[in-house]
Amino acid sequence: MQVLYKSTRSDQAPIKASQAVLKGLSDDGGLFVPDHIPAFDHTMGEFAAMDYRETAYQVMKLLLSDYTEEELRYCIEHAYDSKFDIPTMTALHETSHAYYMELFHGPTLAFKDMALSILPYLLTTAARKNGMDKEIVILTATSGDTGKAALAGFADVPGTRIMVFYPREGVSTIQERQMVTQKGANTKVVGIWGNFDDAQTSVKQIFTDEGLRAEMDKKGFCFSSANSINIGRLVPQIVYYVYAYAELLRQGKIKEGDPVNFAVPTGNFGNILAAYYAKRMGLPVGRLVCASNSNKVLFDFFKTGCYDRRRDFVLTTSPSMDILISSNLERLLYHISGDDYRTAARLMRQLSEEGAYEITPQMREALELFRGGYAEDRDTAERIHQVFEMDGYVLDPHTAVASYVYDLYVEKTGDTTPAVIDFTASPYKFERAVMSALGKPSDLPDLDLADQLCQVSGIPVPAAISGLRTARTMHRTVCDREDMEKEVRDFLGL
Ligand SMILES: *Cc1c(COP(=O)(O)O)cnc(C)c1O
Repeated sequence: MQVLYKSTRSDQAPIKASQAVLKGLSDDGGLFVPDHIPAFDHTMGEFAAMDYRETAYQVMKLLLSDYTEEELRYCIEHAYDSKFDIPTMTALHETSHAYYMELFHGPTLAFKDMALSILPYLLTTAARKNGMDKEIVILTATSGDTGKAALAGFADVPGTRIMVFYPREGVSTIQERQMVTQKGANTKVVGIWGNFDDAQTSVKQIFTDEGLRAEMDKKGFCFSSANSINIGRLVPQIVYYVYAYAELLRQGKIKEGDPVNFAVPTGNFGNILAAYYAKRMGLPVGRLVCASNSNKVLFDFFKTGCYDRRRDFVLTTSPSMDILISSNLERLLYHISGDDYRTAARLMRQLSEEGAYEITPQMREALELFRGGYAEDRDTAERIHQVFEMDGYVLDPHTAVASYVYDLYVEKTGDTTPAVIDFTASPYKFERAVMSALGKPSDLPDLDLADQLCQVSGIPVPAAISGLRTARTMHRTVCDREDMEKEVRDFLGL
């Protein structure tokens, strides 16, 4: 049965997957959700015989059901190629305490590459399928990693333009350099004086501004999103949970059907939501451990059932998780309320008007799969040091947050289920924080720390990092939050 997509906030007529990918966000401000969640049509044992690309096809075809086999295989083949520095795309690394699923082997060194390298193909294919002849304008807010991964994916893709807004003072030096050196005539990067939530909220407003949409339409443009609010981002992320499980099977670490726990460093709740969908589709998952940094709004939510963003936004050493409004939680709320758009719409209205909401006891019961935890910067640094001492393995700060939280979870529960921790970014993106956690703080400028980190870790400096030293700055615009729409208009000549 074909999967169609509905809005989390109203009972608008369902649309096809390719149309949801094209639109990104529903007109009513809601997110697109599948009208039913299909089950895998392969056993885990069968998945264990597939490589990453085949797994990707067999998983994605279920949710992107109006793409033909030929179309989807074309997207996969072109996205998942030698841009990734290992042929298996991801690697499972065994340590004394857990498995780490390395998701940073793509061109921009963050797990976001797993989805953002394929999204441009999904999107341009969707445009073709739907006879859409407008130029697609990708508007994206980033907490640091989405921006670069999206820019790399969309640069010079015909029929598209991409504009990225990032918090000027809320990303690492390397993350910023990666973005502002982006080439491509169709790209634009703008820093804003504000945090990620400001950027994301404004982008959503610009998206749903009907006046602007009408003007764009006249000029032959239409908006789409590369944020994880787009189902074209979420669906490719389901794949690596299946692949990790299959890898454990292949290596004989588990038996078919055994549960596996996953720990996910979380910001916008996209990555962990993909794990939730994987579970609903039939992956044997024990627990999903949602790890936050000091912006621990999700930890509080899982503990109390109350989501409250009325608190100070904290800048941490794990900037890609510095978020107080986790967009994708809206999808989970919708599902745990029994696919009820009224509930999701009401809670989201409360969040925007009052800054907080509380879910019902019944909804809380449906969250049994999840556990929350958080790590402060001090804990994160200690964990990087500790894992290096124990296993000679260097974590990035985001992964270290998850590792710390998982360790605490095991200590509290005694749960001995095999665990996979998502390793979400290369330590080279956060050199300063990592070097200082390893007890080797340095006065060198950030771009010169790579060689030192290489000496300590033994991991070769990725080309994406060494090239930054000489790369030219292409983007210098910084604006106030109120001027974001004006920047969009300028970029499009409206
Ligand atoms: C984006 C990001 C996260 C958070 O992922 P979400 O899907 O937003 O929850 C965690 N770690 C790194 C390195 C990231 O780039």
